[in-house]
Amino acid sequence: MEKMGLYVHHPFCVKKCRYCDFASRPETGAAEIEAYYRGMLTEISQADPAPEKQIDTLYFGGGTPSYVGSRYLKQVVTALADHYQFDPLDDKREMTIEVNPASAMAEKLYAYRAMGFNRLSIGLQATQERLLHFLGRAHTAGDFKETVRHAVAAGFENISADLIFGVPGQTVDDVKAALDYLLSLPRIRHLSCYSLIVEPGTVFDTWRKQGKLALPPEETERKMYQVIGEETARKGMKQYEISNYAYPGFESRHNSGYWTMMPYRGFGLAAASFDGFRRWTNTAVMADYLKAPGQALAEGHRLTEQERRGDFMFLGLRRLDGVANADYHRLFGSSFWKDYQKEIDHLLKEGLVFRKDDRLALTKRGLDLANQVFMAFV
Ligand code: SF4
Repeated sequence: MEKMGLYVHHPFCVKKCRYCDFASRPETGAAEIEAYYRGMLTEISQADPAPEKQIDTLYFGGGTPSYVGSRYLKQVVTALADHYQFDPLDDKREMTIEVNPASAMAEKLYAYRAMGFNRLSIGLQATQERLLHFLGRAHTAGDFKETVRHAVAAGFENISADLIFGVPGQTVDDVKAALDYLLSLPRIRHLSCYSLIVEPGTVFDTWRKQGKLALPPEETERKMYQVIGEETARKGMKQYEISNYAYPGFESRHNSGYWTMMPYRGFGLAAASFDGFRRWTNTAVMADYLKAPGQALAEGHRLTEQERRGDFMFLGLRRLDGVANADYHRLFGSSFWKDYQKEIDHLLKEGLVFRKDDRLALTKRGLDLANQVFMAFV
């Protein structure tokens, strides 16, 4: 049976972080939360139940799912399990919930585990209070440690944490210290480490336009990335994607699905879906979503064969294992060595990719210049 992932978007947060351009914000009142979760239940009930697919992963992201009461999340899990016919308590499935330290109280973590969640993704971002404050985060490093302690007690074996690097005022030593701290905590099996991108419409964007945001020089930012690679490797973690590191067996199955063209169905505001041929994204406007949950779209597009091939290449190349020609052949009936001969030859000559048997993957230099590689396939 073909595997499929489910994603549920929870758009509410305590406050907006200064760098964040996700579909997230504080709610306007309890009625908005009620209406939103009612809307998601409607959207779920109207979705194709895809009986020919096996639900392999479920991911609650946001926003901050842990911000709202557990009963809302429980309703959604139950509705999904009924609609897609799976047992949420079967631990073979990967079920992730994103939580923020300040809102993930012990009783909520116990409730998540009882609902079937077996993986926790905690937004930490930095361990230095001055950096957390600068980023506009609503928690302290101490809150994070407490959350991990409660998560372990609640029975979570698989915890992931997010870090941001390239933040104004952050040093390479700050990044090292954050990693040391994180990897000394129990059950941290996975790290996602993202370079700060100043997105349009964020507070940081305004500050940059006003000349008030001094990003670290590119060499420093690259050095931080290198240090993350070295420190995680020293602890026995493996980098398996441009921004992701895990102990063996703890790679995120849900995110890996995105990079390997696994179909997924997203529910909620601004949630994206892909059925193998078509991509579509729900509206990011709350009023429009509530009027027609899952029907009001921001975009929808049926991929051409050429676009599917391009997606296979550039999404798959995000993974350090790269892409296998056998998989390409299974999907498209041809060889990428032949279809992209000119592009691959050029990238090989530039030292951005390497060939290993049947596979093509990024080199170390390609990791730093990944966008250049991806552009060759879009
Ligand atoms: S907690 Fe996450 S989703 Fe919410 S505002 Fe901050 S970065 Fe954005």
